[in-house]
Order: sequence, then structure tokens, then C-alpha cells
Amino acid sequence: MFDYIIVGGGSAGGVIANRLSENSNNKVCLIEAGSADRSLLVSIPGALGAHMFVRKFNWMFRSQPDIGTDQRGHLCPRGKGLGGTSSINGMVYTRGHSSDYDNWEALGNPGWGFKDVLPLFKKSEDNENGAGGYHGTGGLLPVSNVDKNYYKLEDIFIKASQEAGVPFRDEFNSDKLEGVGNYQFTIKNGQRAGVRKSFIDPASTRKNLTIITEAHATKILIENKKATGIQYQQNGELKEVFASKEVIISGGAFNSPQLLMLSGIGDKDELAKFDIDCVCDLKGVGQNLQEHPTISIIFNSLKKDGYSLALGALATRMKEAIQFALGKKGPLRHSLPKVGGYLKTAEDIDVPDIQIHYIPTMLADHGLNVDLLMQHGFTAEINVCRPKSLGSVTLRNAKPTSDPLINLNLLDDPYDVDVLVKGVKKIREICNMPAYNKHKGEEISPGKDSKTDEEIAQAVRENAAHVYHPVGTCKMGNDDMAVVDASLKVIGIDSLRVADASIMPVIISANTNAPTIMIGEKASEMILADA
Ligand SMILES: Cc1cc2nc3c(=O)[nH]c(=O)nc-3n(C[C@H](O)[C@H](O)[C@H](O)COP(=O)(O)OP(=O)(O)OC[C@H]3O[C@@H](n4cnc5c(N)ncnc54)[C@H](O)[C@@H]3O)c2cc1C
Repeated sequence: MFDYIIVGGGSAGGVIANRLSENSNNKVCLIEAGSADRSLLVSIPGALGAHMFVRKFNWMFRSQPDIGTDQRGHLCPRGKGLGGTSSINGMVYTRGHSSDYDNWEALGNPGWGFKDVLPLFKKSEDNENGAGGYHGTGGLLPVSNVDKNYYKLEDIFIKASQEAGVPFRDEFNSDKLEGVGNYQFTIKNGQRAGVRKSFIDPASTRKNLTIITEAHATKILIENKKATGIQYQQNGELKEVFASKEVIISGGAFNSPQLLMLSGIGDKDELAKFDIDCVCDLKGVGQNLQEHPTISIIFNSLKKDGYSLALGALATRMKEAIQFALGKKGPLRHSLPKVGGYLKTAEDIDVPDIQIHYIPTMLADHGLNVDLLMQHGFTAEINVCRPKSLGSVTLRNAKPTSDPLINLNLLDDPYDVDVLVKGVKKIREICNMPAYNKHKGEEISPGKDSKTDEEIAQAVRENAAHVYHPVGTCKMGNDDMAVVDASLKVIGIDSLRVADASIMPVIISANTNAPTIMIGEKASEMILADA
């Protein structure tokens, strides 16, 4: 028997476990499906892709084919183990635009406007640039700058952007987003500062926090419309734990709705298909899935000035590995997309509609295209900031350990295609600037044959992917499709909250880790205030 049970030790769940157990009177239990094992590669920022295809640390879901992306399904990586997806992510620290949160509030979620959430972002933060209007220091989450760009192609993109009239920017968390420069990262002294290291490890020795790993939650135990505990599977055995105060579901945008549905919370007709008794008829569970669709504009380079796995570059790669091993120096102390920013595809829009992650290597198919990796070149990955397509997560079957059925439905809405087409043209404009003269070779993708808008749109459909930011499947609000209210309580069930990326009613214009950590902070404050 505990006071609180949290399912999922990821970006939100790890924060909640820490904050609730700060008070030694609270008996807290954290249940995590993945293991407590540490991988050396997790802590090396430059090795961020290492767990893209490792099932031990990654759920490696696969989505259903999308009509919008030419009937292709997509890899949906999600971190598994303490730290969740913050252990495999790109570590970019961004929050989006203030209007993203003001929009959440306007949609019926009091207390979620930017003025309300900014103090929570600052509370988590220990920002290298010091405290100020938008940043905090002394928090548990290190946020640091890039010390320098190690590959020439990175500075060239910044210079070419300025030549094309895009302002330089090195602060992507203020009220102004437009511009290109270096992001900030959740990295400290050349080591990943994920939620495990920053929030779970410091709390793990507290006597009032019990962490149960390799424990797959299979059902929320509910009596008389009140959550009383969690059933989980460990080593093939079904076990139960109970909560006297609250159960908090933080399994992420794919797993949280799945667990709710397995427990009888969801659309009645949908549950009936799997002979699951409906405890609470909430038709929004698993709906409203939003994700940032992306297209990569890939060029080869006339020079050997980026990151390549070409045989001739292996000595340099070896040198970088030694530099890192000996003193955490060199490019491996940073993530791969150090440079990026935001663009407006039209003059008359207020907030940029395109985000860029610029990578000084030729990257396609989640890094599986080894042919490209062995050449020299660069990739500008652009994504729609506020896409309009909506997907869903449903049950594949009633077996709790089956993967959920994910329908990303990328590019279903023509707006999303249109923004990407305009974005491709913007990036081409930048890459045609003088800064690139001696460097840029041929455009490999979408390629020189995609000239007209229709041709570019077709190339977008054939090659688009996503940037691993699923949100919205247990959305907060007060309409018919809302799953939780503004205090993250599941509508119609007592003592049960959802707190993770799934509660975002609308996707924000940026990477989703910091906002999910903020959701963890806000959930903790609300839970503790209620107690
Ligand atoms: C490859 C990649 C790169 C990314 N790069 C960035 C980036 O650079 N910057 C950024 O801001 N964002 C990035 N993101 C996105 C960001 O990391 C996520 O949005 C965020 O971590 C989601 O947090 P969450 O708490 O919702 O879920 P998660 O962090 O995924 O946590 C969910 C946890 O619940 C556990 N769990 C699930 N189901 C169960 C169950 N039934 N029982 C027990 N435990 C369960 C999981 O194992 C996991 O540990 C990236 C994502 C990926 C995949």
C-alpha cells in the first residue's frame, strides 16, 4: 500500500516521482516497464542514435501505413527504462511559443497559459546562461550551450541563413522564435542530463520511494469509479500494488491511452470490440494524436567538412572517440543537431510555422541509409510547427503487452503538405547563398527533379517522416473529446490522473521534452496541493 503510484518513469513520471517523494511522509511507488540497467551509450550525447533499434531501451513501435505519406508506416521510437524517452532523445531544449500555452488555456484549461507555466519551466531549470526573464538556475535539470560547432557545415548554414535574411538567434525560448543558430541542450559536462540522471537518481535513495522496474502495468484497478491501484506483470507473474491517495499514469502518448482502454476507460463501442467492460465511456481516449511531420532536404558536400562514416573519415571518427574517452572533449560531447531554428514560410504570419534541425551529415530513414552516411553532406530536417492532421491510438487486441495500434495519419491535412512544400523552397533558398558556394554539391532529396510545387508535394508525400513528438491522446479540456480536466484528473474516475505528453490538447511549436517535464512539475504541484 502506497499513497501514490506512478506508472512510467519517463520525462513526466520521473519528475513526479521526485517531487512527490520530497516529502518523506508520502509513500510513493514508481512502476516502470523497462529496466534499471544503464547503458554507457545513453550518457554520450553524440551517440544519441545508438538505441534507435535496441528493444531493451526502446519500444520501437511501428505505425500503420498513412494515406498521406504514400501508404508508408513509420518507426515510432519511445524510450523504455528509467528516464523513458529522455534517455534516447536528441536533448534539444525548447518550449515553443508563448501562444501555444495561451491557446491551451483558451481551449478551456485555466492555469495553463504561458504566464502560469513559465515559472514551472524555470523551476526545473539550471541554465548555464543564468537566471532571467525566461530561465531559471538551481533546478534539477541542467541546460547548457554548445561550446562550438565542430563541423564547418554547421557554421555555414548559420551564415547562409543570415545571407538569406533569416536573423541569427541563440535563444529559442523567449517570445521570439524566428532565426537560426545553436540550440541549448539538456547536457552537463559532456553527459546527457536526462530525467533519470536529473530527477530519478537523486530521489532513488529516499526510503519513501519504491521503484519497481521490469514491471509492465497491465490494468488500473478501479472500484466504484475510483482508482485503487495497479496490476502489473513482472517475470511472467501478475502482481498488484495499491494507492490510498492517487494513481498517476505517465506512460507516454502511446502507452497511456492503451492502459486506460485496457482498464475499461475509453470509447464504449471500441472497448466492446475486445470484450473489455466499459467502466467509463470516454470517447476521446487515444484520439487527437498529433505529431510533427518532417521532410529532410539532403545535399552532398564538395568538401569533407561534416560527419561521415566514409572509410577516409574513419580516422577522424576514431580521434573524436578518443578525445571523448580521455576528457569528454570533441563533438561527441554534443548532440548531432546542434544548429537549427525557426522560419516563417510567409511574411504575414506572426509565429514561425517551420522548425529546423540541421545535421552535418546525410541522414535518411532514421539513420538506416548507410549509403548516405558514408558520403559527405548535410541534412536540413524541417517540420511543421503546428500540424493539423490528427491520428489515433487504439487497441490491437486485449493483450496488455501487445503494441498499441498507432495511426499517425501524417499529412492527412493539406495544410501540412503545403507548409512543408514552402519550407523546402525556403531551405533551397538558404542553401543557394554564397556561404555554401564552395561546399554544396547536388541536392539528393527531394532532388533536382522536384521543381514545381506539385512535384515537391509528391516528393514530400513519398519521403516525409516525423520527429518523434507524439502528443494529445489523453487531451485535457472540457469538451466531448477531453480525457482529463485542467487538473489532469481523468474525467469520471476518482483518484486517477494522466500526466505526460498525451495531455497536450494541441501540439506545441517545438521539441516536446521540456514541455513534458513542465507537465510533470505542474502535475506534482496540483497533486500535492490537493493532498
Ligand atoms: C529519438 C527521439 C528524439 C527526440 N529528441 C527530442 C529532443 O531533442 N528534444 C525534445 O524536447 N524532445 C525530443 N524527443 C521527444 C521527447 O523526448 C518526448 O516527447 C518526451 O520524452 C515524452 O515524455 P513522456 O513522459 O510523455 O513519455 P516517456 O518519456 O516515453 O515515458 C513513458 C515511460 O512509461 C513507461 N511505460 C509505458 N507503458 C508502461 C506500462 N504499461 N507499464 C509500466 N511502464 C510503462 C515507458 O517505458 C517510459 O519509461 C525525442 C523523442 C525521440 C523518440
